[in-house]
Parts: sequence; structure tokens; C-alpha cells
Amino acid sequence: MIVSGMVKSSLIDYPGEVACVLFVPGCNYNCFYCHNRSLLDGTHDVIPLATVVQFLTKRADLLDGVVITGGEPTLQSDLIIFIQKLKLMGYRVKLDTNGSNPQVIKDLLQANLCDMYAVDYKAPSCKYSQICGSNSTADTVLQTINLLLQYNADFQVRTTVVPQLDQADLIRMAKELPVVPHYVLNRYRRPEKFLPYDSPKVMQSPYSHATIRQMADMLRPYQPNISA
Ligand code: SF4
Repeated sequence: MIVSGMVKSSLIDYPGEVACVLFVPGCNYNCFYCHNRSLLDGTHDVIPLATVVQFLTKRADLLDGVVITGGEPTLQSDLIIFIQKLKLMGYRVKLDTNGSNPQVIKDLLQANLCDMYAVDYKAPSCKYSQICGSNSTADTVLQTINLLLQYNADFQVRTTVVPQLDQADLIRMAKELPVVPHYVLNRYRRPEKFLPYDSPKVMQSPYSHATIRQMADMLRPYQPNISA
């Protein structure tokens, strides 16, 4: 397990819990708006795992949970062993994933290890590679989401409403998804660091908060548990 960043205490990353957030490097997607570009391009730090474990052991009485995010955590070969350690320390664990590894999620569900999941559904299936790079496909993400439903897991699905998605795209996405327990539309924010060739995409103006809320209202017939 490689940890490249740690927010020692957060009130916003794990709903209702005070949580430590761990960032792992590497991702199999290449979203132009990635806010953690340094985790993808090899310029990231590495925090010794012993330091992370020592910190979490000391804070076990003060923190409720640990959020594992990235990058893409399901690419870490010892993810399950690491989460088992966190559970033995008494932590609630939330895993953020791009949904590309349904088999890893199935293993986690079968071991009943995570208390909450957040999965990004980033584009309609016809535009997935355009938004997330040529390695990406909606199929695996939908498989992941269906597994979470099948195992009755606590999870939310999130979409960052980038300017490249229009209303028709969002309706298509809401219809492609099964009805999920919580669907969140997030407003696009320009990343500070991005690839030079992505500049024209990155520089497009974000939708306003009001427009995102209107979009959520428009999608409610398909996804009744939507918020923005
Ligand atoms: S899936 Fe997440 S970590 Fe990976 S490139 Fe996209 S935004 Fe970045």
C-alpha cells in the first residue's frame, strides 16, 4: 500500500464522521479535470506506511473513520489487507473509486470490509473515453454499482458536471444508472495542474450552482435520490 498524502482530520470527506483521508498514487484513468494530477505523473511524495499506521493507531480514539482515495485505490495490490488492519483498529472505512475494478469491489463486499463507498459515474457510456481517457469504459463502472446494490452496501454515486456534459448527456447517464441510494452532482472546478493539451477543455466555464441544481431537478424522475 503506497500512501502519497494524508489529511489528518476532515469533516467533509466521510458524511457524518471525523475522518483521516489517505491519498494513494496511480490511476488507470486520465480525466482531464483530475485534481490530483501529481498522484498520476509520478511527482507525488510517499509517506512511509509505518508512519501512517503509527498515526492512525495513536488517533484511533479521536477519529471515527478513514477515507481511502486517490488516484485509484483499487489498483493497490494489498488494499484488502490494509483495510483489514484499519478495521482491527476500530475505524469505519470509506473507499472512493472510479469503479473500474468490479472484482476488487466484489472481494471487499464479500469480506464485508468497507462501511461506505463513493463511485464516480463520469460520463454517458458513449462519452466515457472522451472524458476519462482511452482506458476507461462505463461498463465496469456500472458493474461496480450493480454489485454495491446487490450487496446492499452504503454508497453514493457522484458526477462532476464538467462543461463538456450537456443536459442530454446527464439524462442519458441518469437512465443508464440503476436507481441508486444517493446520487450527487458536483460542480466542476478548474484544476490547478493539468496536461498542456487539455488546456482548451479545462478552461471552459463551469456551470453555475443554480444550473447544477436545475439539472438535478431535471434528473429526479430517473434518480429520485439526487442532490446537488
Ligand atoms: S479517476 Fe479520479 S484520480 Fe483517476 S484521473 Fe480521474 S479524477 Fe483523477
